Amino acid sequence: MIPFLDLKAQYQSIKPEIDAAVLGVLGSAQYILGDEVAAFEREFAQFCNVKHAIAVNTGTSALHLALLAAGVGPGDEVITVPFTFVATVSAICYTGATPVFVDVDPVTFCMDPSKLEAAITPRTKVIMPVHLYGQMADMDPIMEIGERRGVKVIEDACQAHGAEYKGRRAGSIGLSAGFSFYPGKNLGACGEGGIVVTNDDKQMETMRMLRDWGQSERYHHVIKGFNYRMDGIQGAILRVKLRHLEHWTEARRSRAKLYDAELAGSTRVAPPIQATDRRHVYHVYAVRSADRDLIREELSRANIQSGLHYPIPVHLQKAHEDLGYKSGDFPASEKAASEVLSLPIFPEMTDDQVQTVADTINSGGQRKAA
Ligand SMILES: *Cc1c(COP(=O)(O)O)cnc(C)c1O
Repeated sequence: MIPFLDLKAQYQSIKPEIDAAVLGVLGSAQYILGDEVAAFEREFAQFCNVKHAIAVNTGTSALHLALLAAGVGPGDEVITVPFTFVATVSAICYTGATPVFVDVDPVTFCMDPSKLEAAITPRTKVIMPVHLYGQMADMDPIMEIGERRGVKVIEDACQAHGAEYKGRRAGSIGLSAGFSFYPGKNLGACGEGGIVVTNDDKQMETMRMLRDWGQSERYHHVIKGFNYRMDGIQGAILRVKLRHLEHWTEARRSRAKLYDAELAGSTRVAPPIQATDRRHVYHVYAVRSADRDLIREELSRANIQSGLHYPIPVHLQKAHEDLGYKSGDFPASEKAASEVLSLPIFPEMTDDQVQTVADTINSGGQRKAA
């Protein structure tokens, strides 16, 4: 069997370090926030090349805090894409603001900057591009439009730890950015986790308070806040894993390169395209195919797991039908949702496994899995 990802293999590869980190927190009894989380915040900020990082309990909370600190609330509009994980849109809804969608670029599947300006209204408070699959959105035109129209930009970097755009790290370009440490993300906790990063001192102060009941000091609640704190054990585990992340990212990129080569001549699938000005970190390796469902079936028969990210765009989800969108509103997103197929990719994956997946696709499912 070739799994979609292998969290057990990752744990086995660094078990002594992880076990020691967890035991350290158990001994220190700093179960919520504490020294390990504070150290992780400093190290992750450095990793993103930003001034501040505020560790929280999920990526969704990270996006929620970033929006609140930017002043988003009821009556405001936040522009994002419909081709994303639903949490992007949920975080906007939590603030009471209205999500407004613009379609994605048909090649990168990230926000199409040429569609952005038409979606801006006097109520637009924030633009939230998503760095989908680990490749950053086209940030220069998005930032230019935001600055010219007086609208802030917040990055949904939940899939893009270590990704770069023209040499700049994900999270370092917008006013702030949210990352997720859901276990399957490129940097994953052993449970839930997330973080917000920013270069802005004022945003940082507000988000720190919001994360911990709106306190300026103990029992002085100056704003209405949340319990969005990160666990000490997750902070300690993430510190260990962060030290391995660059190595893991390079392993993902080399697996992707091998897939690219093996699938280059395929008549059945089109490999993903990496924009030349970006460093793709391949959280997801998604091919496109008109025969997506058939190929998924063939892979499954060959004992190869695959995934769909995402089969239904958010504007067509029942939960968000109140927004009033309909089928046909975002053709590039709808086409992508019907064609994408995510192949297994993880740092511990072997070249042989990549070869087996590619051969199975190229041979129409005739090849037996190793
Ligand atoms: C994972 C993810 C989130 C939410 O992160 P959680 O930690 O699961 O709350 C938000 N946006 C995108 C694009 C994601 O992939």
